[in-house]
Amino acid sequence: MNERPQRITLDDWDRRYAELSAAGLCESAYGGPLRRHVDDGDRRLLRLRMDNSPAALRLWNFLLTEEQRLQQAKADGQKIVGTMKDLGTVPVMAYSLPNVVAFYPDGAWWIPCVMEQSAGLLAIADSLGIDDSFCPVRAMLGALVNEAHFPVPGLLTCSVGAVCDDVSAIAQRIADLGFPVFWWEVPHRRPPEPGEPAVRLPGGFVAPASQVAVVRAELQRVREALQSFAGQPLTDEALAAGIDRANQVRRLLGELRQLTFTARACPMPALEMLIAEMLALHFCSDQQETIGVLEDLLTETRARVDAGQGVLAADAVRVFWVNPVADLRVMNLLEDVGGRICGTEYLFCHALDPIPDDLPPIEALARMVLADPMVGSSAERAERICTDAKRFGCEAVVISRIPGASHCAVEGTVIGRIVRERLGLPFVEIEVPPLTDAMEPTIRTRLEALVETARGRRDQRRGTSGEGSGVGRPGGGGHHG
Ligand code: SF4
Repeated sequence: MNERPQRITLDDWDRRYAELSAAGLCESAYGGPLRRHVDDGDRRLLRLRMDNSPAALRLWNFLLTEEQRLQQAKADGQKIVGTMKDLGTVPVMAYSLPNVVAFYPDGAWWIPCVMEQSAGLLAIADSLGIDDSFCPVRAMLGALVNEAHFPVPGLLTCSVGAVCDDVSAIAQRIADLGFPVFWWEVPHRRPPEPGEPAVRLPGGFVAPASQVAVVRAELQRVREALQSFAGQPLTDEALAAGIDRANQVRRLLGELRQLTFTARACPMPALEMLIAEMLALHFCSDQQETIGVLEDLLTETRARVDAGQGVLAADAVRVFWVNPVADLRVMNLLEDVGGRICGTEYLFCHALDPIPDDLPPIEALARMVLADPMVGSSAERAERICTDAKRFGCEAVVISRIPGASHCAVEGTVIGRIVRERLGLPFVEIEVPPLTDAMEPTIRTRLEALVETARGRRDQRRGTSGEGSGVGRPGGGGHHG
């Protein structure tokens, strides 16, 4: 049942689902109409516009059934590991063991948005002394305590050292409450001294070899903790196979991002792309199914690109987005005002880079840990943002600040300055709380202003260089200043 690619409301999805079902739609076990998630409390769906493809339907259903999947895994006797903070490393190790399922309790970050604050997780965090001076990750404290969202993991790990104060403090509070936490340390990545042995990391940063050795030793401790929890050895062979599977996910995402960010007309909306990227972190508690979900999205995206079809106007302004949004609706908003996402740094770009497969597995994973944009300086992070923004031909940059987040106070100033100096691109910093309804007009106006500025700049360049339709596309015009 083909329909023009577009972003549709939940009401539209009711009709679309009925049509697709009547036409013989084949779904996974977690499939079904999206409306049922609203009945389960995911009210934000009522305010979102979602892609109308069966591939997007599968993606949303996969995302919104994770809690049931975790509960089922526990009931089936699987060992559940909660991996706090490292974003993309310990899950690769955990999924190398056949009887282990890993997830990020930090993912509760989005529950206040998706359930429109009805879950009461922030109030629980408040009552435990973790108030709104912390970022929305404090929702994980509420979720661990009330056990209404995910099972209490048999093993909780947390990376510390070069991590935000928010997670450090909240994880310590979690430990205080009697949940045992396995701590492992990541040093702040520093530039190598002149002449000091150094290693180039996935994604391009460089770290002293001595720091890689420190992380290697820490990951060896993580390996031992996982082995003892699973009651099985975690061999180098098993880890290498786990890295291969993680790389399969990363390759699919790499292709999906490349196609979407470089297509003339945007083939897949920002919201679905954000969710797809998030799957790289812990595979939404099912690694094999993640691969299937991404393959479907890629097939759909490729078909749209081949047919020259998009979900947005072809002249949408190409925006690079920094930091994840606490309110998913803001991804819609950018598109509503004439923008499209053509590059992202959602705090975990290291989880999208392929893991080296020609090194001993623990060495490869240690390099990936240090490639985390958040364990080095904001200036280095900005350099990577500039490289990627240039690669995808972005015309503007948005930093979405996270309320209470300890890393947000100055990073916007640093990143904004470097983006302006290196690329000369217009730049805006907005703050996005879990629910933006009250401030939507302000956010909309600021995004509109950015899009208009970028359009003006595009028109000016067209006028002075005589460029034609290639302007605003990667490689299509010298619009980087
Ligand atoms: S959003 Fe920022 S402050 Fe909050 S947990 Fe993530 S890295 Fe830490």
